Amino acid sequence: DLTHFDDVLRFWVNERPDATALDQEGRKTSYRELEENTRRIIAVFEAHGVGKGDHVAWLGKNSDLYCQLYIASARIGVVVAPVGWRLAPPEIAYILKDTGAKLVLAGEEFVETAKTIAHGLQTKPTVIGEMEARAAIAAQTPAEGFSKADDGDPVLQLYTSGTTGNPKGVMLSNGNLFALRNPGNAADLPWNHYNTDDCMLAAMPCAHIGGTGLINIAIANGIRCRVEAEFTPLGVLEAIEEGATHMFIVPAALQMVVQHPRAAETDFSNLRYMLYGAAPMPLELLKEVVRTMPDTGVMQVYGMTETTGTVTHLPPDDHSLDGNERMRSAGKAVPGVEIEVRGPDNKPVPVGEIGEICVRSPTNMAGYHNLPEATASTIDAEGWVHTGDAAIMDDDGYVYIQDRIKDMIITGGENVYPAEVESAIYGHPAIAEVAVIGIPSEKWGEEVKACVVCKPGHDLDVNDVIAYTRERVAPFKTPKSIDVIPEMPRNPSGKILRRQLRAPYWEGQD
Ligand code: ATP
Ligand code: MG
Repeated sequence: DLTHFDDVLRFWVNERPDATALDQEGRKTSYRELEENTRRIIAVFEAHGVGKGDHVAWLGKNSDLYCQLYIASARIGVVVAPVGWRLAPPEIAYILKDTGAKLVLAGEEFVETAKTIAHGLQTKPTVIGEMEARAAIAAQTPAEGFSKADDGDPVLQLYTSGTTGNPKGVMLSNGNLFALRNPGNAADLPWNHYNTDDCMLAAMPCAHIGGTGLINIAIANGIRCRVEAEFTPLGVLEAIEEGATHMFIVPAALQMVVQHPRAAETDFSNLRYMLYGAAPMPLELLKEVVRTMPDTGVMQVYGMTETTGTVTHLPPDDHSLDGNERMRSAGKAVPGVEIEVRGPDNKPVPVGEIGEICVRSPTNMAGYHNLPEATASTIDAEGWVHTGDAAIMDDDGYVYIQDRIKDMIITGGENVYPAEVESAIYGHPAIAEVAVIGIPSEKWGEEVKACVVCKPGHDLDVNDVIAYTRERVAPFKTPKSIDVIPEMPRNPSGKILRRQLRAPYWEGQD
């Protein structure tokens, strides 16, 4: 039973030293090299006076260097914090400051940004560019006799996506990273079994659990991790043709992949499992995905940074070509995880009633960095994470996520969950993307508004969209008004920033 990166590396070096661990643009790192390089990085940390509990930040795209940095840290208990490179400089500054990092490693194209930000911080972290870092690592003698991190020491600090407010630093330990996902402690399910020639595609940003979490699963299972610097639909299609067998992707990116002209010519049969999640998946899109890759196990996952990702899954068998009711759910608890849907009294609500998803899992975070109050209000004394997501559970334990509780619209005393209305509107032939928000209303308190992006070459008749929606949902859920917008505001994890759409309507109101 491997529960620690240090044990994992020693195990795979013993079993299959020459197998490829990391593969970026044809640059390959074997398990033997990975083990050795991470000890060189530990020596570099020592040279900079960075040890257990200290933070090191990474500002860059996905990179085999980042992967090694992360694994080196996990071995000894340095805390690595990857920062999303797509964020704006003030957002990057906010996170860098919050980490308190002593050392910032930056991809070449981000060195200037990192230096400018570092200069403005009181802690004056040292910034090292990727090329310089690679040279310094190669020149070091691998460390010997270092002391291993304890299973519960934080080693990875991922920031939440910042969908509902400022991102929060989630501290994860080796124990969190290896529970439920590792040979030896994962449930005996087909997608937890890896073949020696399997290849994990890491195409989502490493600053999120859907990026770093996959690197972690690949290395834990001794397989090849193909690292894509950044997501492009073509890059994903090529990686699949070149042998990627497993991947995770968010719905907005998956839509670009299946609607790319090359998708029709792509052979998806190598791809054993395609996991999607992190945001609601429109049913129409999901049907298209299943049709596009009929031989692939398409599986939804639901989770959050605070739970080290996946805590519920909708297995491939629950998917069908024409769609079925279950495809609207985020599936059921992963073995080893407890899920309850609770009411305001913190007791489970009856089956079929709406409440908040609460999670107890060995993957639940150690806590938020420097936010004791937020930690206390998220994880209770019994170890349950209160997710802030509203859902209904059915008799078989499948959860139907309605939306974030914070995004719920109260109109004339009725609760409206935007995701339900969005998924109805999404089926309209002229609409590419949609977000539903509540705006102030004298009469109703709040009223429902839809913000839509048209498909290229389509004109939109607003009344037609309203009529279309009215046929599918109750009148109080149907938008009273529609804004046609050129582009959907999304954060780098592909989530719609409803707070940005709401802001102009609520100025000076709440
Ligand atoms: P912040 O906490 O800063 O507001 P965030 O919650 O978007 O940002 P993440 O931890 O990346 O940050 O995302 C977790 C959230 O993503 C969940 O709480 C849930 O709202 C949403 N989510 C995850 N998986 C799914 C899914 N399969 N379907 C619908 N929503 C999902
Ligand atoms: Mg959150």
